[in-house]
Amino acid sequence: MKLNIRSFSAAQSGFRAELDALLAWDSVSDAGVQKSVENIVSTVRANGDKALIEFTNQFDRRTVQHSSELELSRADLEAAAKRIDPSVLEAIQKAAERVRLYHERQMDGQRSWSYTESDGTVLGQQVVPLDRVGVYVPGGKAAYPSSVLMNVIPAHVSGVSEIIMVVPTPDGDVNDIVMAAAFVAGVTRVFTVGGAQAVAALAYGTETIPKVDKIVGPGNIYVATAKRMVFGAVGIDMIAGPSEILVVCDGKTDPNWIAMDLFSQAEHDEDAQSILISPDAGFIEKVKSAMETLIEDMSRKDIIKASLEGRGAFIHVSDMEEAVEIANIVAAEHLELSIESPEDWLPKIRHAGAIFMGRHTPEALGDYCAGPNHVLPTSGTARFSSPLGVYDFQKRSSLINCSPEGASELAKIASPLARGESLEAHAVSAEYRIKD
Ligand code: NAD
Repeated sequence: MKLNIRSFSAAQSGFRAELDALLAWDSVSDAGVQKSVENIVSTVRANGDKALIEFTNQFDRRTVQHSSELELSRADLEAAAKRIDPSVLEAIQKAAERVRLYHERQMDGQRSWSYTESDGTVLGQQVVPLDRVGVYVPGGKAAYPSSVLMNVIPAHVSGVSEIIMVVPTPDGDVNDIVMAAAFVAGVTRVFTVGGAQAVAALAYGTETIPKVDKIVGPGNIYVATAKRMVFGAVGIDMIAGPSEILVVCDGKTDPNWIAMDLFSQAEHDEDAQSILISPDAGFIEKVKSAMETLIEDMSRKDIIKASLEGRGAFIHVSDMEEAVEIANIVAAEHLELSIESPEDWLPKIRHAGAIFMGRHTPEALGDYCAGPNHVLPTSGTARFSSPLGVYDFQKRSSLINCSPEGASELAKIASPLARGESLEAHAVSAEYRIKD
């Protein structure tokens, strides 16, 4: 199948403008979606379960009469785990174990600490897990058991005591693999609701669904718009844009491997972005021809083609230095360094959600089971944000415990500053602690 994928040379004039246009993504939802989500969120906030049931019946084509029908028990999850193919259950368990081990390591450096000054004053930071977290697992058009593992396990490892999962079940069809993943990951309660109504229920609470402190997890435009809307009442992880991969290849990897790595991103949806950068123009041609052959057998070839022709690109560069410079501009969600000695180039990579190093590390392994989280910053937000991790399920309190001597010395600093701000009570409060 012929593929019309954009091809650039970094040396051509106007390249930077072309690159910016390629990367541009407008994450704002249209006015219609905005209005509809506003209505759903405010109605669920006002009417609780009644509205939640009505929207669930409307959007997921269900016939729920009572809110008790919205919850699945731990026994339901266990039964689902027993129904699925044992090899799939084993894969879920192995992936879960690796994701857990990785996030347990991540707890290093995320614990409480304090130090004592010479006059006995103690300063520090207390780190505590959030009390209750909501995990949105998408389920409108496809099932995502890996999303369950990647969102629930770090919450569990960080010590969150209640993890509330919501997942839509269109037509009432419960996905056993998703429920098996929930069972293995250690979810506390599961409700079969989705969309903006589920986000609103988690944010404000209903008679049945407890109000949470933070909502994490991806979803469609209705879910993303609702998360943006309830932010402030609760915390949220991020608003994810379409998924992206940037492959930097020196031209020495099997072109079929690179073609399939690019497909693995493109098959997500038409808006996904797959870009290949290489200093070897002949190699780019080989990858292109491999893609045109391999696409014929892909079950999602229409989505792959639309994605590659809409937002994909090949970029020819003069050398690896230039490749890395462009990779830092793109700040991709997934960056594959399919090159010799990727560790030599690592110190120069400043912006990427996850860095897949070497020819034997395709993104697909990270998506499911390597261990690091697959919830990553998209649309260039890797410039200022990080993968989902245990730190997203914790919060910090500052600790100050002054000794009498320490208080006296600090008051001498605080008092003139408070008077400078005309805050007299502050000044006097501090001065009371000054020792004669
Ligand atoms: P979803 O669960 O996000 O959305 C389904 C819900 O959307 C329905 O329950 C319904 O309530 C609501 N909805 C649908 N049409 C509506 C309408 N007209 N008005 C109001 N509400 C409506 O499931 P999905 O639709 O399959 O989307 C999943 C999304 O999550 C995809 O975009 C996928 O790419 C993304 N995703 C991202 C990641 C990641 O890690 N970034 C992982 C998995 C999935």
